[in-house]
Amino acid sequence: MHRNIAEILIEPERLQARIAELAEKISADYHGRTLSLIGVLKGSVLFLSDLLKGLKLDAHVDFMMVSSYSGQKSTGVVRTLLDLKESIEGRDVLVVEDIVDSGLTVDYLLKNLKTRRPRSVEVCTLLDKPSCRAVKVPIRYKGFEIPDKFVVGYGLDYNELYRNLPYIGVLKPSAIKGK
Ligand code: 5GP
Repeated sequence: MHRNIAEILIEPERLQARIAELAEKISADYHGRTLSLIGVLKGSVLFLSDLLKGLKLDAHVDFMMVSSYSGQKSTGVVRTLLDLKESIEGRDVLVVEDIVDSGLTVDYLLKNLKTRRPRSVEVCTLLDKPSCRAVKVPIRYKGFEIPDKFVVGYGLDYNELYRNLPYIGVLKPSAIKGK
């Protein structure tokens, strides 16, 4: 275990097993259709690539980068830092997120994407912290519900570190600036 991790919440084997289940479900739900996956950079990258490998569908992949976080705190203001390359008009879109916390990011993304007239748009998140919600958002596919703890690993960072850890873990207080 990494020296700055206090506790592992989700082991690699559990992550992979659950992601395989999600891929099966999504493949069945969109059977015969082409799905446009939109990865929300950067945290969703590991999840998106494992999910993508399990899909038995034709799939497009595109990315958006939005920002509402700095360090551990949400600023509450979401902005687009990087937009899609392809049009999503008439497409079945699945937004792939690492974690839904306040819900502000997903709320912003859904409102933004719906203006581009997709055929459908749904959300798939690896992690959900339902106790932190500030705005209600529809989540079609979810990997795990977790408690209100700041987590890192498997794509999720703290100040750009820890994305490479193969598990979801909780940081030690001593590894958080200002503590
Ligand atoms: P929301 O807008 O739902 O509050 O937050 C969504 C974004 O905040 C996520 O995509 C993620 O980048 C970041 N975030 C929220 N909670 C956590 C957390 O526990 N750990 C990390 N590393 N990022 C988080």
